[in-house]
Amino acid sequence: MKRRLLPAALLLAVSQGSWADVTGAELDAAATAIAGQVIEWRRDFHRHPELANRETRTSATVADHLRSLGLEVRTGIAHTGVVAVVNGALPGPTILLRADMDALPVTEKTDVPFRSTVTGEFRGRTVGVMHACGHDAHTAILLGVADILVRLRDRLPGRVLLVFQPAEEGVPEGERGGAPLMLDEGLLAIAKPDAAFALHVGSMLNTGQVMLRPGPLMAGSDFFRILVTGRQSHGSRPWKGIDPIVVSAEIVSALQTIVSRQTDITDLPAVVTVGAINGGVRHNIIPDTVEMLGTIRTFSEASREDVIERMRRISSNVAEASGATATLELMPAPNPPLVNDPALTERVTRSLKRALGDDAVTTSRMLTVGEDFAYIARAVPSVYWWVGITPAGTDAAAAPDNHSEHFFVDESGIQVGLRSLLHVAVDFLQGETAR
Ligand SMILES: [Zn+2]
Ligand SMILES: [Zn+2]
Repeated sequence: MKRRLLPAALLLAVSQGSWADVTGAELDAAATAIAGQVIEWRRDFHRHPELANRETRTSATVADHLRSLGLEVRTGIAHTGVVAVVNGALPGPTILLRADMDALPVTEKTDVPFRSTVTGEFRGRTVGVMHACGHDAHTAILLGVADILVRLRDRLPGRVLLVFQPAEEGVPEGERGGAPLMLDEGLLAIAKPDAAFALHVGSMLNTGQVMLRPGPLMAGSDFFRILVTGRQSHGSRPWKGIDPIVVSAEIVSALQTIVSRQTDITDLPAVVTVGAINGGVRHNIIPDTVEMLGTIRTFSEASREDVIERMRRISSNVAEASGATATLELMPAPNPPLVNDPALTERVTRSLKRALGDDAVTTSRMLTVGEDFAYIARAVPSVYWWVGITPAGTDAAAAPDNHSEHFFVDESGIQVGLRSLLHVAVDFLQGETAR
C-alpha cells in the first residue's frame, strides 16, 4: 500500500512499530481458533433451513452475532438481508464479501445428526426444506471471517462490506429478492466497493481443492414461455383446425439448431432447453394452445441477446408456416452471466495458491448453472470461486450434486473455504504484501 498517503498520526504509529502487516500465519491461526464455532453455526443453520425470502431466523442469528462484535448492523435489506461494515484503522480500499443464506425445497435424506426435518410452503404445497446447496456453510464462513476481521481491525487498512444475502435460489412467484433487490435497495451506497468476492461450496471438487477462471465462469440464466396458438378441432378432422401440438414439436426441434447450427461454439457455449410442454386434455381433441417452458444459458450479454432473437424468429416463423402463432415471453429477473474480472482473478489466484498451495487451485470450466452474485459482479470488479467439500479420497464426480437430497458437505472443506476468503480479503486490503 502507499504509505505516503497515511495521515500523520498513523505514520507515527507505523514508525513506532505498533502497526505491521497481518501475516498469513496469523490468519491461519485465527481461522483454526474459530473453526469449532463456524461448524457450530453451520450445523445450526443446517438444522433450521429457510426458503428464499423467508430467512428470518438465519438473518436474526447473523445480525445478533455481528452486533455482538460491536458492528453497526443493517437488517431488512431485500426482505431478510443483513449488511455490516468493518472499518479498518488504516486507510485503504473497500471490499465486499457476500454469503447467501437461503435453502431449497428438498427433503433431506442424509444421515448427519443435524439433518433437517423442517417443512415449508412452496407453490402452495408443503415441502421438505434443506440446505442442499451449502448456503449454510457460506453464511457460517462469512460470520467467521467477520469475527476475525473485527479482531484484526486495528491493523487492517480499508473497509469490508459484509453482505448476507437472501434468496439466491430465486424468489416465490410475484416476489422480488436476492442480489438484484439488495442493489436496488442501495447496497453499494452503504460503501462503494473496489472489489467484491464470493465463494460457493461444490460437491464436484474434493476437500482441499478450489477452482476458478478469469472471464465468464457461470451462465446467464433466462426462463422462457412459448405460447403456441392454433385452432381447436376434432382429433379425427385435423384439417378443420390448426394443430398447435404438431407446430410445437417443430418449434422444439428447430430451437435445437440455434446452438448446433447458428452459434459460434468455438467462442462461447450456449444451452436452449425446453423443459415442459403442456397442451390438450383428451386423445381425440386437438387443443387451441400449447405452452412450453424452458431455460436459456449464455455466457455474455451479446450471446444472450443473439440466442433470444433467434428463438423469437424461429418460434414465430415456424408457427406462421402452419397458420399458427407463437409468442416468446421471458420471465422477469433472469441472472446475467457471472464474469470474473480477469486482472483481479490473477491476483486472487496468487492469494489462493499462497494460502492453500499451488496444487489446490485449478482452472474451472465454464459452468452452465446460474448465480445471482452476477448482478454484483456486473457492478463491481469481482471474483467468485468454488470450494471442494467432497471428502478427499472419494470420487467427487460420483458425489451427490448440489441440490440433491443427499448433498453432503465435508466440514473440513468449510475450513478451506474460510481460509480462502480470509486470505483473499486481507491480501487485497493490504495491497497483496508478499508473506
Ligand atoms: Zn443452488
Ligand atoms: Zn448455491
